[in-house]
Amino acid sequence: MNNKAEDILDISAEDIVGKNIKDILTVWKGNIALDEKEMPVAKMFKTRQAVYANIKDDLYFKTFSGKKFPVGFAITPLEDERMMSAVIIFWDLTEEKNLDKAKNSFISIASHQLRTPLTSLRWISELFLFGDVGKLTGKQLEFMEDMHKGSIHLLELIGALLTISRLEAGRATIDPVPTDIADITKEVIKQLKPQISSKQLIIQFKPEENFPKINVAAEFLRQTVLNLISNAINYTPNGGRIDISFKKELFDKKEYALFSIKDTGIGIPQKDQKRIFEKFYRADNAVAVIPSGSGLGLNLVQSIVAMWDGKIWFESVEGKGTTFFFTIPLTGMQSKKGEVKLFV
Ligand code: ADP
Repeated sequence: MNNKAEDILDISAEDIVGKNIKDILTVWKGNIALDEKEMPVAKMFKTRQAVYANIKDDLYFKTFSGKKFPVGFAITPLEDERMMSAVIIFWDLTEEKNLDKAKNSFISIASHQLRTPLTSLRWISELFLFGDVGKLTGKQLEFMEDMHKGSIHLLELIGALLTISRLEAGRATIDPVPTDIADITKEVIKQLKPQISSKQLIIQFKPEENFPKINVAAEFLRQTVLNLISNAINYTPNGGRIDISFKKELFDKKEYALFSIKDTGIGIPQKDQKRIFEKFYRADNAVAVIPSGSGLGLNLVQSIVAMWDGKIWFESVEGKGTTFFFTIPLTGMQSKKGEVKLFV
């Protein structure tokens, strides 16, 4: 044991000789102590495979002196003809855990503090627009419309940030229900009809016949389809074409619904392709077409697809078009009781 390990575990290297590891430290998952068989070291000896943990595993060491702290570790087998031993490398994650908490509570507090006044702004501007507080002149109406649009835009932005932070923290409640993907897609296309018509886009939707319903959180599926079709509309010049389809597909012997959205738009330049799912990242050619985008949509969609163990990817040629693909396992997703309900 090195000096740092002695410090962190509050015990000297001499004192541990001859002791059972469970008398030096216990391992916890959140607030529950793992029993002996579940201890990572025991797991390693049983499987003869290295065992790893990082911040997402939510594991803690509790020392003999009573100190409990979050850990990450790598426990690797070391085997020769005489015996089998283990090398344990671990790191104290207290700092990272605190940062993570601070980041999440910051986003959540900021979002709540911003949402309430913004919602009032939105309703009040609607009262003005509907003429409930008297008739507005042309210029007043124009400004009020800008205010109304701005407040909606900000509310959507905050909603997306809140949702992403909750998904990332894994604290969301998820209620999956049997969902018809074709129905959801048709509803989304209907909702986007005004934008489609004003750009004279041709939109084709070919659902596979008799497709089974999938057990997913329907609102999330709707959000995913909405984001991807909206992007296709936004980044395709007038008169272009959008083809949407889904079919069954096997990946690693598991059945998935494979959804694709193909457009004849501006495409994603090669140099931006690696970063396109990052929060706030936007390619220059997209900024030129729509200066006010948030760059949050794809990041949100990626978190959602990961939630049901699907995959998302795209193929794109700048100036020619883009096809986005995502998958949902036909077995659907598990329901989960988290601390918070999500809204999207
Ligand atoms: P936003 O559309 O608000 O910029 P997104 O997260 O939805 O945010 O998209 C991020 C970026 O990905 C866009 O700014 C654009 O550069 C690129 N992108 C996404 N979809 C398409 C598409 N269908 N065609 C071209 N570029 C796209």
